[in-house]
Amino acid sequence: MTALPLVFDAPKRALPPRHFADLPRAERRAAVAELGLPVFRADQLARHYFGHLTADVAVMTDLPAAARESLAALLPPLVTPVKELACDDGATRKTLWTAQDGTRAETVLMRYPDRATVCVSSQAGCGMACPFCATGQGGLQRNLSTAEIVEQVRQAAAAARDGALGAPARLSNVVFMGMGEPLANYNRVVAALRRITAPAPDGFGISARGVTVSTVGLVPAIDKLAAEGLPVTLAVSLHAPDDELRDTLVPVNTRWKVAEVLAAARRYAQATGRRVSIEYALIRDVNDQPWRADLLGKVLRRQIGAKRVHVNLIPLNPTPGSAWDASPRKRQDEFVRRLDAAGIACTVRDTRGQEIAAACGQLAAT
Ligand code: SAH
Repeated sequence: MTALPLVFDAPKRALPPRHFADLPRAERRAAVAELGLPVFRADQLARHYFGHLTADVAVMTDLPAAARESLAALLPPLVTPVKELACDDGATRKTLWTAQDGTRAETVLMRYPDRATVCVSSQAGCGMACPFCATGQGGLQRNLSTAEIVEQVRQAAAAARDGALGAPARLSNVVFMGMGEPLANYNRVVAALRRITAPAPDGFGISARGVTVSTVGLVPAIDKLAAEGLPVTLAVSLHAPDDELRDTLVPVNTRWKVAEVLAAARRYAQATGRRVSIEYALIRDVNDQPWRADLLGKVLRRQIGAKRVHVNLIPLNPTPGSAWDASPRKRQDEFVRRLDAAGIACTVRDTRGQEIAAACGQLAAT
């Protein structure tokens, strides 16, 4: 396999037209005033959009018809579903959608006994080039706009409420674990986080505790996020406790080493009071050796602190063209046992959506 280059700056391509969800409250009011409408219409529209999860002016019958017609200009359709696939008896749904310029991306919605989670994309494609990830192998097309991210959440929340997952559910969790590296699209992702967590009518009012931003480990951006006053959960895709192996699995490790990433994770945990999640895909005979489990436990204890960290083990999901497999069950159990012995909290993630290529690392928007 030839290594792909790391791409931090998205190709300069036009972003979609301005949308209501791009704007903080003051700018929403200004945009409504520009349309020649009284500013309170902005707040009414926000109640429909964020509160009732609708972007269809036709159903906003408390607004005069003429105002509805004008306001439609602030709600261009940015995220148009083109294909829906479901599995797990309908409890997992993947949506392939197209943007106005034909760019494609995917969103995955999942219902669990106690919660409903949407996994959103922050970029179309990804520039981080991880060799075991289908998105990383496809390269980066462009950043998504704030509204393109927010629209994924709105549509998922409406679908969950309306019973698309089998039974009506309230969307409780949003994870930035779809396509893309969220911290490489920093400003738009942070604006989206504000709309997601702000109470209605300024946002969906989803608790920051239920929101997770996952990163390959862009250290300066982790520190910036820690200072935003948004106590979302940080997940770091570590996949190896040692630089030699991580340089090959997560190529950005050649810029920021394991020790630097873990130090940033520790600062994040200290600043926000939230436990940091460490993602570790178990790959047979690559990163699943018992000695690596011991080393992982040791570096996490030493560099983050056992109380501030939680490990999420992910059995590797198959991707096209990859020769790698998931670890055998016995290997996985031994890995868990050794982390337990080191006093590190650890869970094995269920690999939802494999049958429909919706699981971690499988999103290719094809
Ligand atoms: N770019 C961010 C957001 C994507 S999250 C990040 O890497 O964190 C997707 C998660 O799935 C990451 O932890 C990623 O490393 C992991 N992943 C990628 N390919 C995978 C695969 N084939 N099997 C299991 N997990 C995978």
